[in-house]
Amino acid sequence: MVVIQWFPGHMSKARRQVQENLKHVDIVMELVDARLPLSSRNPMLDKIIGNKPRLVIINKKDLADDLEIQKWVHYFESQGILAVKINAKEQQTVKKLTKAAREVLAEKLERASERGIQNKAIRTMIIGIPNVGKSTLMNRLAGKKIAITGNRPGVTRGQQWLKTNEALEILDTPGILWPKFEDQMIGLKLALTGAIKDDLIPKDEISIFALDFFKENYPSELKARYKLSDHEMSLSAVDLIVLLTKKYGFRDDYDRFYELLIKDIRDGKLGLYTLDRVSDLTAVDEVSDGN
Ligand code: GDP
Repeated sequence: MVVIQWFPGHMSKARRQVQENLKHVDIVMELVDARLPLSSRNPMLDKIIGNKPRLVIINKKDLADDLEIQKWVHYFESQGILAVKINAKEQQTVKKLTKAAREVLAEKLERASERGIQNKAIRTMIIGIPNVGKSTLMNRLAGKKIAITGNRPGVTRGQQWLKTNEALEILDTPGILWPKFEDQMIGLKLALTGAIKDDLIPKDEISIFALDFFKENYPSELKARYKLSDHEMSLSAVDLIVLLTKKYGFRDDYDRFYELLIKDIRDGKLGLYTLDRVSDLTAVDEVSDGN
């Protein structure tokens, strides 16, 4: 797990590096987390990549709520962006992503073929926030364990291409960009999934958010995991914390309960979930200006 502290200097360096590398690729693959299809996006990506063709890859689908991911696929579609859901650890990823990239680049490939250029490999780069699965995906695409030494912002080398067993080549240096952590709700969601360092957000806040979220969106999973009665389900998040800390025999050591709850959620003990909901989108989110 790469933990990066983002400072303005890092951000502009990372941004410059992505912009430099963009020149060498036909299409950008933007990796997002299926539990956070919006919160795990970099707020400035649109500006950074300009009109470069793009494919959104919704990764870690094995951890997320499929119904909600499907809604996100439609959401991206409504924005004119093709999105595919994957598990970076799975074998069939190369075929799936090559096919999707060909779909996005269909017109360009058609023109190339009219000019007699056939089967030219598509060149791409993977971009995403830390821990979204870039290295895992690149290893899977290359079909072997590769040392992704450029997996830190600001580390550049000459362009090297990872070959896949399809007509797809990947720049060996992924673009690492920052999440939109200045938004408190986004910070809570990133923290709950483990996308950002654990000490950035207090665990009591993460736990209150988590209990409220599961009570509203996945009540039966919450009820079953902690054997809660209907009455207990109607308690506030804070009262639930007090109750469950006692139930577990942790006395008043609330931190122990926070850790248990957060770990349970990350380990999928409360089922598959997606924290970002298309239904929560506001007009403001949709015209996110990237600032
Ligand atoms: P990077 O920082 O973007 O390069 O992220 P990594 O490739 O290091 O992945 C971060 C963590 O997510 C690792 O523990 C991976 O094993 C895990 N991971 C990556 N892709 C998937 C996926 O599709 N499903 C699951 N369950 N875990 C994944």
